Amino acid sequence: MPVRNLDSRTDRRGALRLLRLLLAVSVALPLVLFAGIGWRERWEAQDEAERNSSKNALILHEHVLKVFDTMSQVLDRVDERIHGHSWREIAESEPLHRYLKTLAGELEQIGAIGLTDPDGFVRNSSLVFPARNSYIGDRTDFREQREQDSGLLIAGPVVDPTSGKPSFGISRRRSSPGGPDGSFDGMIAAIVDPDYFASYYRRIIGTEGESIALIRDDGAMLMRFPTLDPTRPNATLPTLPADRGLRAEIRRQPDEGIFRTGNSIVQGLERVFAYKRVGAFPIYVVYGLDGTQVTRSWWRNMALDAAFVAPATLALALLAWLAYSRAASENAAVRRWADEVRNRERLEEALRQSQKMEALGQLTGGVAHDFNNLLTAALANLHLLARHLPADGQRFLAGARTALERAEKLTRQLLSFSRQDAVNPTVVDLGDSLRRMADLMERSVRADVVLGWDIAPVPMAIAVDQVQLEMAVLNLVLNARDAMRGGGRIRIAAAPGPEPRTARIKVSDSGAGMPPEVLARAFDPFFTTKGVGKGTGLGLSMVYGFARQSGGSATIDSRPGEGTHVCIDLPLTDARPEEPATVPAAPVADIRPLRILVVEDNPLVLMATVEGLTQEGFSVETAEDGVTALALLETDRNFDLVVSDVVMPGGVSGIDLARHIREHWPQLRVLLASGYSPESLATMGADTASVLAKPFTPNQLAARIRSLTRTG
Ligand code: ADP
Ligand code: MG
Repeated sequence: MPVRNLDSRTDRRGALRLLRLLLAVSVALPLVLFAGIGWRERWEAQDEAERNSSKNALILHEHVLKVFDTMSQVLDRVDERIHGHSWREIAESEPLHRYLKTLAGELEQIGAIGLTDPDGFVRNSSLVFPARNSYIGDRTDFREQREQDSGLLIAGPVVDPTSGKPSFGISRRRSSPGGPDGSFDGMIAAIVDPDYFASYYRRIIGTEGESIALIRDDGAMLMRFPTLDPTRPNATLPTLPADRGLRAEIRRQPDEGIFRTGNSIVQGLERVFAYKRVGAFPIYVVYGLDGTQVTRSWWRNMALDAAFVAPATLALALLAWLAYSRAASENAAVRRWADEVRNRERLEEALRQSQKMEALGQLTGGVAHDFNNLLTAALANLHLLARHLPADGQRFLAGARTALERAEKLTRQLLSFSRQDAVNPTVVDLGDSLRRMADLMERSVRADVVLGWDIAPVPMAIAVDQVQLEMAVLNLVLNARDAMRGGGRIRIAAAPGPEPRTARIKVSDSGAGMPPEVLARAFDPFFTTKGVGKGTGLGLSMVYGFARQSGGSATIDSRPGEGTHVCIDLPLTDARPEEPATVPAAPVADIRPLRILVVEDNPLVLMATVEGLTQEGFSVETAEDGVTALALLETDRNFDLVVSDVVMPGGVSGIDLARHIREHWPQLRVLLASGYSPESLATMGADTASVLAKPFTPNQLAARIRSLTRTG
């Protein structure tokens, strides 16, 4: 069954591609999803951190606002209490001191309350009585209050006199006796208890990375929890720069906002700040959160997610990979199977072809043999006739002979194809023997065809029949010529073949080339595309037969419009090439005529042969079959040579005869006349008895007899 199902192959490829895609997706998709979720979670975590920060800032804001309210009320109350008192009375009033002390004691947020006269001396306070009259006239808050009535003023940073920690104060002008437009009459100030804030903030702050600070709009940090440096709780607090960081953000959004930084000004950390302005005061409450904590908890979440996602992804990918590799190996198996089928088809095709050639060979061989006998007889008789015909009849004879010779050539080609031709292999150098043909080839082509030779300058000894080699090359050249109607180039090349220990003859042309259907049948005998009478269809089949009989092969490479290359590959032999046969010297007249026994069942052939030999000066005896010949030889052995046909009636063939003679009378020579090749004769049981190919002319027979008896 031919494997031409291209659809299923593309199907398979498509399936494989799909599986590969699946494999990629099974890895990539979870990764992408995971990254997406991670990104989203991170975004959400930050969002939540910001929202929490804002919420905390709001809570803190409410608290600070309440503290400020309370303090302002306290200051108002104190103002009322001292209304109408002179500064001397104030300074000397111990009940006032106690009152102040009670206030400061009852309200946790207040550290201390002090009353300062217009000259800047503290005249009474919640701390000691009588007051120490300490001078604060150079303090900023005092100076500000003296210059103008700013209402409630937040001052700081100041040091809490009881704890020594940094804190801040709230102050107001003492109401002037002359009303709002009256002159400055001292200041009432309270200092915030830093511990109060600390204890409150401690309750709010949960994690370590959180911080709370109060910042005035001039950048002064009034309070910070936790203390920046735990080892120095009393260190003064820093002032934030105006042009960057949190303050720059506050300038952009003065009421409230979120500020995120990777490098906070105070601690150089990644932080999120939420701030809110405290009422109308120039104060901001700032809640800070450690950004790395947000990141860290996000990482923890992601790790947890990954712990679930990774095994699932891995399993999925493994599954996809398994499916893919199984499909891939199945695909490979199918491909291998298809290749095998194709190979087998090729082999079967080759076998069919060789069987066809074999059958054709046998058929043509049989026909050719019969023709051979007839031709031999006809030629021999023509030969004899020539001596008896008057001169004016000779040209008819010549015509007949030409026709017969052409017929002989045809049968020879047929026999050659069927590989039953009587070949006479000799060892020659391929290059030399091609060079010797050059003349003949040149003469065979038209003037518009250029013949090129390309013979490798290396020794290539082959064992072939010279005549057949020449015929094969000639056939190829003629074919090439015929294929180049408008002229062209033929190249005859000889070189070592692609297989080891072979030589290759390659005849190429620039002709029309062959379409596949012609190429497939070109070697078939009688296949021709040339018109009736123009082509016999025996040229390439002869080439094929010659190559096979010589132990080689013939191949054609041709495409329409691209010319044709025919290759004959022949095995190289180790034997040394024989010297080219020199023309035998003219026969010397024998002292005594040679005595020949001719054994032939065909009376026509027998008669012609006897006539011819007698005229050549031999003394001839005859026998019509093997049995008669043997009987004759029993009584008379005095022959120089026995010439015998191979196939004869009576049970004793030429081969049997030859064997018998060799066994009993070894000095007696035998020449078998046959259309069979020496190989086919050998398979019939003949040893290396001398063989003369049929058909032959009496001249050829005589020459062969002479050469045999001479060398003997
Ligand atoms: P013939 O030459 O008598 O036709 P061949 O056996 O030599 O028979 O060739 C058989 C056929 O192969 C030819 O008829 C021709 O179609 C084709 N052929 C042979 N040789 C060539 C060539 N060199 N170029 C093109 N076609 C060729
Ligand atoms: Mg031909």
